[in-house]
Amino acid sequence: MSATLIDGKARAARLRASVAQAVTGLKAAPGIVPGLAVVLVGDDPASRVYVANKVRQTEECGMRSIEHRLPADTSQDELMALVASLNADPQVDGILVQMPLPAHLDTDQVVLAIDPEKDVDGLHPQNAGRIVLGAEGLVPCTPQGCVLLAREARGDLSGLDAVVLGRSILVGKPVSLLLQNENCTVTMAHSRTRDIEAVCRRADILVAAVGRPEMVRGSWIKPGATVIDVGINRVPAPDKGPDKTRLVGDVAFAEAAEVASAITPVPGGVGPMTIACLLANTVVAACRRRGLTVPEM
Ligand code: NAP
Repeated sequence: MSATLIDGKARAARLRASVAQAVTGLKAAPGIVPGLAVVLVGDDPASRVYVANKVRQTEECGMRSIEHRLPADTSQDELMALVASLNADPQVDGILVQMPLPAHLDTDQVVLAIDPEKDVDGLHPQNAGRIVLGAEGLVPCTPQGCVLLAREARGDLSGLDAVVLGRSILVGKPVSLLLQNENCTVTMAHSRTRDIEAVCRRADILVAAVGRPEMVRGSWIKPGATVIDVGINRVPAPDKGPDKTRLVGDVAFAEAAEVASAITPVPGGVGPMTIACLLANTVVAACRRRGLTVPEM
């Protein structure tokens, strides 16, 4: 392997340390403790693990964590009432409703109900619109993590050619917009893109967010490129034993690492950045809601 590993765990730990320092400052003056409310509906095992991690890391950064666990048969009205009460609660600066919600609940309606100033997941259309405008808003966490890792590898991104594979609302579209705001020249590729390999080979920065295990081969990568692999795919691992699985990204890591200059691993790349950015967004929301200057993080 010739590429440098972009260590998402280490970058996320640094960001969490900055968040903790900012929280210490806010506690000292003007004496506020940022609060993050996390809502979990149902008992999806993966969501339970995510929520437990968010709660633990919120507390480790010195913030107040407010946890609401609701049964799987919670009605839309009950969930909307909880969101309304969190919107109105002055101790709550950030609201995160863990997705996916059980199938009988209307996710869009819930997202729309969250106060955009407390929307630390950055999913509300007002925050999506603010990214388009290049205006101040709350930026979705995984896309923000991708940009921070690209900056970690390349420093200033101005003028670089970026290709974003995938155009989802959650990842691909916001990453593209954020990279444009970093002065990259951005191409978005998707399932209808012609000669996708040639498009990818133009990229100084290649962000893969397609959800297809190891789709991006080494031959798709421009020598010296920076590769940010967002994909998290569980695949069979017969070498580890029958019924065993392992996580892989959207990029064939070993091949890509021979061509790229820097690459994120899976796991340990983009994944750890998501919660760290959520914590940073909570501090941002706590400051902006009170008209305070947001500390450097
Ligand atoms: P998604 O909503 O399924 O979107 C996938 C995108 O990839 C779509 O735009 C789709 O194109 C495109 N695509 C699918 N197959 C393709 C192909 N063969 N060639 C070119 N483009 C193709 O997925 P997502 O929510 O963006 O997530 C993408 C991956 O990131 C998943 O593996 C997910 O688990 C992972 N993820 C990780 C984190 C994290 O690290 N914390 C967070 C979120 C997501 P069309 O639009 O044309 O259909």
